[in-house]
Amino acid sequence: MGEHGYDVVIIGGGVAGLTASIYLAGKGFRTALVSRGDPACCLSTGCIDVLGAHEDPMKGIDRLPRNHPYRIAGRRTVIDALEAFLGLMEERGLPYRGSLGRNTGILTPIGTTKTTCLVPITMEASSGFTTTHIHVVSFKGLRDFYPSYITSRLANTSVSVFDAGTSSTLGLATKFDEPSFVDDFCAWLSGLELPPGKIAVPAVLGLKDPKAVLQRIRASTGREIFEIPTLPPSVPGIRLFRALKDAFLARGGHLYWGNAVASVETRSGQVEAITMAGPCRPSRAHARAFILATGSFVGGGLFAQRGSVRETVFDLDVKVPGPRRDWFLNDFFSPGHPVEASGIEVDSSFRPLGCGLKNLFACGSILAHGEIMRHRCGHGLAIATGSAAARACERLLS
Ligand SMILES: Cc1cc2nc3c(=O)[nH]c(=O)nc-3n(C[C@H](O)[C@H](O)[C@H](O)COP(=O)(O)OP(=O)(O)OC[C@H]3O[C@@H](n4cnc5c(N)ncnc54)[C@H](O)[C@@H]3O)c2cc1C
Repeated sequence: MGEHGYDVVIIGGGVAGLTASIYLAGKGFRTALVSRGDPACCLSTGCIDVLGAHEDPMKGIDRLPRNHPYRIAGRRTVIDALEAFLGLMEERGLPYRGSLGRNTGILTPIGTTKTTCLVPITMEASSGFTTTHIHVVSFKGLRDFYPSYITSRLANTSVSVFDAGTSSTLGLATKFDEPSFVDDFCAWLSGLELPPGKIAVPAVLGLKDPKAVLQRIRASTGREIFEIPTLPPSVPGIRLFRALKDAFLARGGHLYWGNAVASVETRSGQVEAITMAGPCRPSRAHARAFILATGSFVGGGLFAQRGSVRETVFDLDVKVPGPRRDWFLNDFFSPGHPVEASGIEVDSSFRPLGCGLKNLFACGSILAHGEIMRHRCGHGLAIATGSAAARACERLLS
C-alpha cells in the first residue's frame, strides 16, 4: 500500500472541497484532495446562487435561521469568500459578474427567468432580456435545447439554426475551441439579416476560453451576445469545475481523482489517516487535519436508509428532520423539501458536533440546515463554508 503524508487532506472535490483546498494550498500547506468522481457543479448552470430567495442576498443572510451555515460562517466571511472567488475566476480567465447586494435574472432554456447572483461573463448580457429583441441561435440536431419553448413564452424573440456537424453540447463546445470554427460561425451570423437586439446561444461557446470566443463574436457582429444555460451535462458547470481544479493544481496541491475514501483511522480524538480505493493500488494518506466535503445525497456524502440518514465516510451523527414520514412533500417540485435540512451539524469552527474529533472540519452541502433548494444558495453556500472551514483548519495547523 502507498503511504503519503500531508498537512491537510480534503475529502470531496466539489465547489466546497475545491474552495477549501485552494485556500490551504495557497497558504503553503501540503494539501491533498481526494475525490471519488465529478461533483454536482458539472450538472449546474455554472451560476453562483448566493441567496436566490431574497432580493439582496447579503441582507437576506441576517434573516436566515441562526443554525443556517451562512449564519455560522458570518456575513463578513461569506462576503470575503465570494470576493476571493471573483478574484480567482478573474485569475483563471473565467470572469464572473454580478453584485453581492442584488440578484439578477437570466434567461433559461424554457424562456423563464432564473434568479441568481454571480454569472459567468458569457451570461452577463442576459440580464434585461425582456426589454430588447433576442435572436436565439440554435444548432442543427442539438438535443435538449428547444428554442420554441423560448419563442412561445417571449414575443421579443426570433430563431436561426446553424449546422455545426455535431449535436451535443460538449461536441459543440469542443468545436468552439477551434478558431477556424468560430470564424465560420461569425461569417454565417454576419450574413443573417437580424433585427436590432442581442444574440443568445445555448451555453456551448467553448470549454477552454469562452471569454475570447464571446469577444470574437461580439467584434464580428457588433452585437451583445450571451449564453443560455442548458440541461446537464452543462458546459458552464464543467468550466467552473475545471477552473477550480486547475487553480488548486497551480498552487501545488495533490489530487487523487477517482479515489473514494474506503476507511478512516482515528485515535485519541483525532483523525490520523484515510485509506483510498481507486483504479490503482490502495493508498493511505495521513495528515494533521481533514476536511469533509463529500456533498449531500447527490454527491454521496449522505445516504438515506429506511428510517435514517447515514454519513458515508466517518459515520458521523446526521441531523434528520423528524421521523421518515415527515421527509416527504406531496408536490415533488415544491421548494423546501424537508429532507434538505438533513446533514452534519457543526460548531462555530465548522467541526462536526458530537464526534469528538478535534482535527476534522466539514463544509458544503453536507452541512445540516442549508436547505439549498429552498434558499437557492447552492454554490454560494459551498464557497462560503469551504472558505470558513479552511480558515478554521488553518488556525489549527498554525
Ligand atoms: C442538477 C443540479 C443543478 C444545480 N444548479 C445550480 C446552480 O445553477 N447554481 C448553484 O449555485 N447551485 C446549483 N446546484 C447546487 C450546487 O451544485 C451544489 O449545492 C454544490 O455544488 C454542492 O457542492 P459540494 O462541494 O458541497 O458537493 P458536491 O458537488 O456534491 O461534491 C461532493 C464530492 O465528494 C465526492 N465524494 C463523495 N463521497 C466520497 C468519498 N467517500 N470519497 C471521496 N470522495 C467522495 C463526490 O464524488 C463529489 O465530487 C445544482 C445542483 C444540481 C444537482
